[in-house]
Amino acid sequence: MPKRKRKPKSTAASDVSGEDIVVLRETVPLQLRYYGDPVLRKRAEPVAEITDSERQLAEQMLMTLYATGNGIGLAATQVGVLKRLIIVDIGEEDDEEYEPLVLFNPELLSSDGEIVAEEGCLSIPDVTADVKRPESIVVEGVNLQCEAIRIEADGLLARVLQHEIDHLNGVLFIDRISGLKRRLLSEELTRIQQAEKPY
Ligand SMILES: [Zn+2]
Repeated sequence: MPKRKRKPKSTAASDVSGEDIVVLRETVPLQLRYYGDPVLRKRAEPVAEITDSERQLAEQMLMTLYATGNGIGLAATQVGVLKRLIIVDIGEEDDEEYEPLVLFNPELLSSDGEIVAEEGCLSIPDVTADVKRPESIVVEGVNLQCEAIRIEADGLLARVLQHEIDHLNGVLFIDRISGLKRRLLSEELTRIQQAEKPY
């Protein structure tokens, strides 16, 4: 999910300060998959074991996210890998600094409230829409150190987590808007679908 209504973040990969996340210098960004690619509609498989290859995938995804310049979240599905892995880095919100988050097998445990906010998606460039989602959520998953973690989130973090978990189930944010609104976006969606490389 890209950042909206903010200045694009210019964080270089080497500036990542997450204690246990080291983006290797030789890591190269992965190819993003775009709307129309069938992989975006598939359900990702749970990760049974976190090995070096999963760790490397997480690092490559972070590199890919930072390479977009305005990304705040990415699901493995968006780089064509059907594993239940998401990464989130919202930077700072309300003067609070958030560490990059790597989460395997994320599960939405509970949700509360309802709020509408604008969303976009790195796989659907230049398309935004207001999406109604629960306002606060509890998510469980496994971090890079194979520890089970529980996250209580609201605001932007809650929104990104829900958006990225949707990707693991083959769901896109445009599925959560009305048919009428989607028809209004149909020209843009067709453009992305027909482009060889939107970027
Ligand atoms: Zn997305």
